[in-house]
Amino acid sequence: MSKVVKFGGSSLASAEQFKKVGKIIRADKDRRFVVPSAPGKRDKKDTKVTDMLYACYDLAENGKSFSKELAAIKARYQEIIDGLELTLSLDAEFKEIEKQFKAKAGKDYAASRGEFLNGIVMANYLGYEFIDAATVIFFDEEGNFDAEKTNEILSKRLTGLKNAVIPGFYGAMPDGKVKTFSRGGSDVTGSIVAKAAKVDVYENWTDVSGFLIADPRIIDKPVGIDTITYRELRELSYMGAGVLHEDAIFPVRQQGIPINIRNTNSPEDNGTWIVGSTCQKSKYVITGIAGKKGFCAINIEKDMMNSEIGFGRKVLQAFEENGISFEHVPSGIDTLTVFVHQDEFMHKEQKVVAGINRLAKPDMIDIEADLALIAVVGRGMKSTRGTAGRIFSALAHANVNVRMIDQGSSELNIIIGVANEDFEAAIKAIYDIFVLTKL
Ligand code: ASP
Repeated sequence: MSKVVKFGGSSLASAEQFKKVGKIIRADKDRRFVVPSAPGKRDKKDTKVTDMLYACYDLAENGKSFSKELAAIKARYQEIIDGLELTLSLDAEFKEIEKQFKAKAGKDYAASRGEFLNGIVMANYLGYEFIDAATVIFFDEEGNFDAEKTNEILSKRLTGLKNAVIPGFYGAMPDGKVKTFSRGGSDVTGSIVAKAAKVDVYENWTDVSGFLIADPRIIDKPVGIDTITYRELRELSYMGAGVLHEDAIFPVRQQGIPINIRNTNSPEDNGTWIVGSTCQKSKYVITGIAGKKGFCAINIEKDMMNSEIGFGRKVLQAFEENGISFEHVPSGIDTLTVFVHQDEFMHKEQKVVAGINRLAKPDMIDIEADLALIAVVGRGMKSTRGTAGRIFSALAHANVNVRMIDQGSSELNIIIGVANEDFEAAIKAIYDIFVLTKL
């Protein structure tokens, strides 16, 4: 058995946190490959090293002095090195960083140094080999992740190695220039390393004990999720459930490697298992609820729309021409509604309407703003009768007016549209009916 272990920024924010991480790694010899993030916040008011690096580079790029800011970053690492009683010096690395900042090496290079340096500290602390991610993780000319090249080179590099530290978040372009994934991208690196090393489990260590059924900012102490499938998670994270970077699922999913979300501050908790498929029933009919505010619904009506071939395509073309992606398109006999993000749509509203008029010649277009979408997700819904009925009677009891219903053909989720101001009440009502009353 072997595992890749990825530790997030809050797990590596101080020497004290590093010691917890060291203990976790040493407790299980299967934990062979370690992917660290940059040091995160030590407390609520603190700044992540990644953000310090962005701010510092900004000064460098504008030709301003950045020595004070770079010294503050160096101090963050020195505090960790001293706290761990290591005899490691990062002087040479910081000299090089200063030089590269002056030469305007780029924002991505700057941000990546957070993980790069933390990887060096981690490798030194554990006595493991350090592998610079720029030598094993690759992007193509367009800046897209190059999965094939990476897998080939990385798996070769890891063959025969018992242990190694590979910093998260970045890789290199074909010309050698450093490029990062989007924010939170160390999760993606962990998944890529898990795939290349063909491990049995990808452990992702963070500061919560896995996923919760609902957002704790809305529900007081929501129940945790023991097991969730990749597909369920996709639905939930798309709808705003945080914890794991969206793209982290793909590399391991292809190989059927499960992800185990664990809590560095509470390592005895089992956390959440993210798996391909499972015969384990979730404790409740639903696995999770997530949602987002700030959508617009564009309702389009046309007599005999139903029999007009290509009507939907023409409507959607108007959105495409304006670079707007749509979220959901529920339709009736003579109506079609397109849900879009309000902030994306707002500035282009009249252009899109003109486009729909020109291309699809509808009878009427009506726009509704300030809507929220809620996804109720659960693999158990397929085999349970009355789930939708329960959801809607709970919403009716909570006085929430349902503006849209869309059940995905996978029967894995039901999407509900409500007014922004009903968002919290709707989530509470759904949580109560399935979890608290265990119906
Ligand atoms: N350090 C990077 C960030 O703050 C990447 C990561 O932590 O995954 O976004």
